Amino acid sequence: MYNAKAYSAARATSPLASTKIPRREPTEHDVQIEILFCGICHSDVHSVRNEWSEFMPTAYPIVPGHEIVGRVTKVGAGVSKFKAGDIAAVGCMVDSDGTCPECRAGSENFCPNVVLTFNSPDKHLGGVTYGGYSESIVVDQRFVLRVPSNLNLAAAAPLLCAGITTYSPMRRWKVGKNKKVGVVGLGGLGHMAVKFARALGSHVVVFTTSAHKKEDALRLGAHEVVVSRNADEMQKHAAALTSFLMQSRPITTSMPISTCSAARAI
Ligand SMILES: [Zn+2]
Ligand SMILES: [Zn+2]
Repeated sequence: MYNAKAYSAARATSPLASTKIPRREPTEHDVQIEILFCGICHSDVHSVRNEWSEFMPTAYPIVPGHEIVGRVTKVGAGVSKFKAGDIAAVGCMVDSDGTCPECRAGSENFCPNVVLTFNSPDKHLGGVTYGGYSESIVVDQRFVLRVPSNLNLAAAAPLLCAGITTYSPMRRWKVGKNKKVGVVGLGGLGHMAVKFARALGSHVVVFTTSAHKKEDALRLGAHEVVVSRNADEMQKHAAALTSFLMQSRPITTSMPISTCSAARAI
């Protein structure tokens, strides 16, 4: 075990403060990563403030962060996919049982025993897992991702949560040319959705309550921007889009489901 610098919150109302947290020495299949960048996801804020207390109460102190990009510093003897010096990333989960039907189908995010990157029971050290607001993390290689070295690493970090949360349903719903994609809210997920949908060749319509976000939406790739407080503007798009749920967790759990995008053929 070793100590790593981190930022943690001691309670729901306290700000993040510098601290030290324990990390395990890499075991056989572990990858140790020096964290270079970590995105700030709104889930971090919800968790720090214990706003999901009904179904995912926060254990304090909490170290949030699940959009992690860094450099591999050490690997266990059984690690074949990474070596020291590689650029690597970690998203919102760090382990699963590996044996259930969901894991066997490659959908570890639906595993009933998934271990989230922070605030999940830590089976190695006890207590709960600590996330990416830290200088170092140790993760089983099954949950470590490759990052092309030609990417801007700071800009790549949000791909690990906001990115996959928008990319996954777009692939499932076969978003591409000849599709129209509506993005409700130009936020962390929304701006990713705009960029992906545009890159996939779709016609992109952003719905926003804030007229001043119009320029940014267009700059990011939107073809049209609708100010949703404007009834006339909304009326022009009536029945133009069919909504679907952007689902990152099984719908049977009580996790809040983000509804962010809609798509239909035009
Ligand atoms: Zn997130
Ligand atoms: Zn499983």
